[in-house]
Amino acid sequence: MSTILATTIAGSLPKPAWLAEPNTLWAPWKPEAAALAEAKRDAVRLAVADQERAGIDIVTDGEQTRRHFVTSFIEALDGVDFDHKKVVRIRERYDAAVPVVTGDVVRRHPVFVDDAAFLRSTTTRPVKYTLPGPLTMVDTLFDAHYRSREKLAWAFAGILNDEARAIAATGVDVIQFDEPAFNVYFDEVRDFGIAALERAADGLGVKTAVHICYGYGIKANNDWKKTLGAEWRQYEKTFPLLASSKIAQVSLECANSHVPIDLIGLLEGKDVMVGAIDVASERVETPAEVAAVIEKALGFVPAERLYPCTNCGMVPLPRDVARGKLAALAEGAARVRRDRFGGGAASS
Ligand SMILES: [Zn+2]
Repeated sequence: MSTILATTIAGSLPKPAWLAEPNTLWAPWKPEAAALAEAKRDAVRLAVADQERAGIDIVTDGEQTRRHFVTSFIEALDGVDFDHKKVVRIRERYDAAVPVVTGDVVRRHPVFVDDAAFLRSTTTRPVKYTLPGPLTMVDTLFDAHYRSREKLAWAFAGILNDEARAIAATGVDVIQFDEPAFNVYFDEVRDFGIAALERAADGLGVKTAVHICYGYGIKANNDWKKTLGAEWRQYEKTFPLLASSKIAQVSLECANSHVPIDLIGLLEGKDVMVGAIDVASERVETPAEVAAVIEKALGFVPAERLYPCTNCGMVPLPRDVARGKLAALAEGAARVRRDRFGGGAASS
């Protein structure tokens, strides 16, 4: 990728009100089945156009084709019962009724491969496609079959690898696995989480990324953040493991958070997608605020490895707020490019 400080987003964008209820997670689809496929593609076109107009360099489909970043993938697999849910605690934070693993999990057909191919066809810019990570998938289910989080994670890692290889073949530039669970289950991350992630990302032939965050700006997450104290040092445990992993890029939360910026220095050798946009607030950042986060990060990561990004997905935000944040992200990065490097283009 030829732009230094190339901008990108964690993944999701709000959906149009004609596609799903705004400001809502797990919002059901509004169009009838016959119209839904076309409606999703129209929404992807708009999500890509919004990113292009704002000046985002590496674009996503805004996750317009899925209701939820984890469960929409799992729904397509065999072995999971979505009709008889059980209540479990998600990331030790909130209770949710979740599907039950009742047999071997199997991917019988591609899940998002057509969606990835469509995204690729909508733009000439580099594109990123996002998938859930194995540990986060495990943490979203009640397991009545494997009865082992490690075994289930390995089963998902193999499935994710099959899906990711097919997505890579559509011509996407980056495949990112979302692993918010990496910020909670540190022993599991060390014991099998990183290895399962590497298995999912093995042999793709494109850039591989992992996104680790403190979650959407929903109440359960905001309440949890209040318990984390003045300094959020969760990344301190996972970054050294990721630094010695085969994953190329790490997407992390930074704007308006209590993450000490020097922790990104633990990711030596990796590309860093630094969160310069807060998704837990509807206030749109100024370009100067975005630039300030980027400048701080440049103290620890060389410019050619730094990618200004959002803290997390923007799906729960109003669309106009999300568009404002996209523009602030692109303009903030452009300012730093101008101030430090006298323009946009550079080799890399
Ligand atoms: Zn996130």
